[in-house]
Amino acid sequence: MNLPHLLLDIDGVLIPFPNTDQQGPPTHVRHLVVPTGHNPTQPVPIWLNPRHETLINNLLDTHQLHPVWCTSWRHDANTHIGPRIGLPDLDVIDLPRTAITTSHPNGYLWKRDHVTRWAADDPLAWIDDDFTLLDHEWAAHRTATTAPTLLIQPDPHIGLTPEHLDRVLTWVAGIPVQGHVNQAATRPMNATPQQREVRPAA
Ligand SMILES: [Mg+2]
Repeated sequence: MNLPHLLLDIDGVLIPFPNTDQQGPPTHVRHLVVPTGHNPTQPVPIWLNPRHETLINNLLDTHQLHPVWCTSWRHDANTHIGPRIGLPDLDVIDLPRTAITTSHPNGYLWKRDHVTRWAADDPLAWIDDDFTLLDHEWAAHRTATTAPTLLIQPDPHIGLTPEHLDRVLTWVAGIPVQGHVNQAATRPMNATPQQREVRPAA
């Protein structure tokens, strides 16, 4: 069995939605970026939380998950987003550029059919702010029939919190890996790097 995947969305997860004054939350720092295809004279404001560097890297340092971007930022995630919060280059799910006017053209998240094909029978934890009831039903069915599947849905005006990543760790700790329960993944996300050091199971 492949390592469980961790699918990361960006808008509404790492970049919270601005408030009515077009400001991000005070926990986040404003940046200006020029996504691929945008006019360089019209950069886009985004807000990123510097604390996410430690939170996410602590999770990645457990080596219990295969992190991958699953976002309409596509490869821009590795050039415009990840480096600004100290994340390494991650794999990217090549989502198509489809002409849709809603993120739920069939009542569920537009990314889901691509994820289903991409992940095949692998376990996955997926953090996205835009799931519908049909997506949660899909995850329950996939867990029952195919592989453990966890959906985590942040409030898009708040974004990713330590509690979300703790839920991922708790989930992955319950997935048997090579016959062992995943003990190394049970330490909380706010632990220091030393506390989080992963040692092989005895
Ligand atoms: Mg989103």
